[in-house]
Amino acid sequence: MYRNFKIVPNIIFGRGSFNQLGDILKPRRVTPGAPMVFVLDDVHLGRELEGRLPLEKGDLLLPVSLVDEPKTGYIDQLVARIRTECPVLPDGIIGLGGGGAMDIAKAISLLLTNPGSAADYQGWDLIKNPAVYHAAVPTLAGTGAEISRTTVLTGPEKKLGINSDYTLFDQILLDPELLVGVPKDQWFYTGMDCYIHDVESLNGTYLNEFSRAYGEKSLDLCRQVFLEDRPDKDDKLMMASYFGGMSIAYSQVGACHALSYGLSFVLGTHHGIGCCITFDQLEEVYPEGVREFREMMAKHDIRLPRGLTKNLDDTAMNTMVNVALGLAPLWENCFGKDWQQVMTRERALELFRRM
Ligand code: NAD
Ligand code: ZN
Repeated sequence: MYRNFKIVPNIIFGRGSFNQLGDILKPRRVTPGAPMVFVLDDVHLGRELEGRLPLEKGDLLLPVSLVDEPKTGYIDQLVARIRTECPVLPDGIIGLGGGGAMDIAKAISLLLTNPGSAADYQGWDLIKNPAVYHAAVPTLAGTGAEISRTTVLTGPEKKLGINSDYTLFDQILLDPELLVGVPKDQWFYTGMDCYIHDVESLNGTYLNEFSRAYGEKSLDLCRQVFLEDRPDKDDKLMMASYFGGMSIAYSQVGACHALSYGLSFVLGTHHGIGCCITFDQLEEVYPEGVREFREMMAKHDIRLPRGLTKNLDDTAMNTMVNVALGLAPLWENCFGKDWQQVMTRERALELFRRM
């Protein structure tokens, strides 16, 4: 069976395209008294971007914190706040920030039209009703969250996305000028998330020509961004992120992402840095990718934290392994149908011990 997947229908790309956001939203303002809700990564409060938001009377500015990665409980609180503060269902939710803020915007738009808690929908195709119109404006590039059909959330029991066709954004606005001001380490970690998506997709057993076309182009752009000095590197990284996301949409990520989910569930390690810490231990699985990744780290003088798991007890280590090995499709993509013979519990434990 081939997957018939949906993609984001409207995309605007280019330096300064942010100035068109107000015009793009105008035809979406259809319900009398209904606001647009601007979900803004709070790092932008008091910065230029906040002043440029096309807010109209009655709109809600909703700053969100990314100190922790998005949790289902946090989504429930934000949805409750919108329900209290807005007289009617909003006409749109606009997420501005990195993967975290974009995921929060996606989750809010889904939970405004689907009853219960965000935790009820962690999984595949559990959402029943279409979301409120939602749009994304990335200010950090690499995750591919702008193009993916998931919003990754940590719930009481698991770290798992709300995967559905309704999760996809209705509109994305890719303005490379908005990437200014990202701290170098964060720029690198989130950019490497994209690089790792490409390596895992291109080396996976699920690969087809669709995924390869996007993955190869994304990898090429990552090399230009991280191994060369390019004045237009922000434009390139933004497109690399989009293409990397398109590549994994029809394939899957692999060993690094599976292990990094275990690390993140137990230690709260953020996605980009967690993927880098994990990838650095996977030379035996992705030899060429890891060699080039280390070259990129050296060029940008990035030093990864070490010894993260050294004080963890057996229970915590076992939880990590359980979370990681629970992600069967990622392992199957990496090693094929017999992956359980290749990635044993002992081997996963050993990899975690080295991190
Ligand atoms: P992030 O959104 O967590 O942001 C990282 C940090 O960068 C935050 O402190 C944020 O405030 C800051 N930041 C963002 N833009 C900035 C700017 N222009 N200037 C200065 N600082 C800025 O980081 P991320 O790596 O983009 O996203 C990681 C999140 O995305 C995780 O929660 C992860 O689970 C999720 N994710 C989602 C998908 C998906 O397909 N939905 C894919 C990969 C990762
Ligand atoms: Zn990722």
